[in-house]
Amino acid sequence: MSTTVPFLDLSATHIAMRPALDAAWTDTLATNGFVGGQAVDAFEAEFAAYTGAAHCVGVANGTDALELILAALGVGAGDEVIVPANTFIATAEAVVRVGATPVFTDVDPATALITGDAVRAALSPRTAAVMAVHLYGQPVDLDDVLAVTDAAGVPVIEDAAQAHGARWAGQPIGARGAAAGFSFYPGKNLGALGDGGAVTTNDADLAATVRTLSNHGRSSHSRYEHAMIGRNSRLDGLQARLLSVKLSHLDEHNEARRWAAGRYGEMLPASWVPIEVADRAVSVHHLYVVTCRGVDRSVTTDALTAAGVGWGLHYPVPCHRQPAFADTEQKSHPVTEDLAEVIVSLPMHPHLSDADIEQVCGALDELTAD
Ligand SMILES: *Cc1c(COP(=O)(O)O)cnc(C)c1O
Repeated sequence: MSTTVPFLDLSATHIAMRPALDAAWTDTLATNGFVGGQAVDAFEAEFAAYTGAAHCVGVANGTDALELILAALGVGAGDEVIVPANTFIATAEAVVRVGATPVFTDVDPATALITGDAVRAALSPRTAAVMAVHLYGQPVDLDDVLAVTDAAGVPVIEDAAQAHGARWAGQPIGARGAAAGFSFYPGKNLGALGDGGAVTTNDADLAATVRTLSNHGRSSHSRYEHAMIGRNSRLDGLQARLLSVKLSHLDEHNEARRWAAGRYGEMLPASWVPIEVADRAVSVHHLYVVTCRGVDRSVTTDALTAAGVGWGLHYPVPCHRQPAFADTEQKSHPVTEDLAEVIVSLPMHPHLSDADIEQVCGALDELTAD
């Protein structure tokens, strides 16, 4: 059976803004601003304003954003970086790329996010940074985490790849840690039409170092002087133009996701329980993750497939259980390991209709009705 409720519907998003997206391409051709340039400057200013951060540096993707922040903070060989075990592998990858060691921690069973207590338990004299991952669109309780890290004198890096627009206690994410890394991979809440990423920070020196590192170590004052060994990780002018168009719809799209999450919450049968959103959190529901406890996960996913409903698993193999980390000694993280067995992600995007959500919940209802 073909998928009638897709997991993600990028076509619906793009059709609605097609003339503006077409104009972005035309403007890029007219100006030859293919890498960096005025369109990137403009998007950086818009995105900084959106997050409330003083600075934004466009880069090639979200993983590079995290890696460049770590490098700019001077994190490297011999350092440990605390990373929640329940995250996309890229969070840990960035740590390994700068030569440091990820120290995985477990997550809160209700929200599936890193907590201040988990950070405190993982701190060591070698801890050089903490990755606070705003997973599934949910903001980490940064008041809780920063209380621990400020006391320890350790910087917090926000992995904001899944949470453009999320808020904790009224404050937007992306401007509270030392810096935040955003991804503009097409499927993210703010997605380019290709790869893209950004670093946001209130620290002018950190922003300048990230910019230099991302552009071959080039000094800000000279085209021909290379102050440090950098790399190439820049945002395309075309992607910046497309992102400016899509940024103007982000709040409306996040609101539509919250509406869909609310409808799921009303209609889901009792065997499927959504990951909790904390009272002080405003989630942007990048993913709609539920735990299946009353009914087997494979039975659940088979039923969704049979009903033409798209689904995903985020994440079925925790980072510390990935073959890539087999050589690193890793403790057990029971909450993450349990979640890995029972989570399933239901369709979530800004164009879900009431009928779509009824179809998803109806397919699950049939499994428990007897
Ligand atoms: C997508 C993602 C990244 C990496 O972003 P890319 O742009 O794909 O490199 C990092 N962390 C998390 C939590 C993500 O979901």
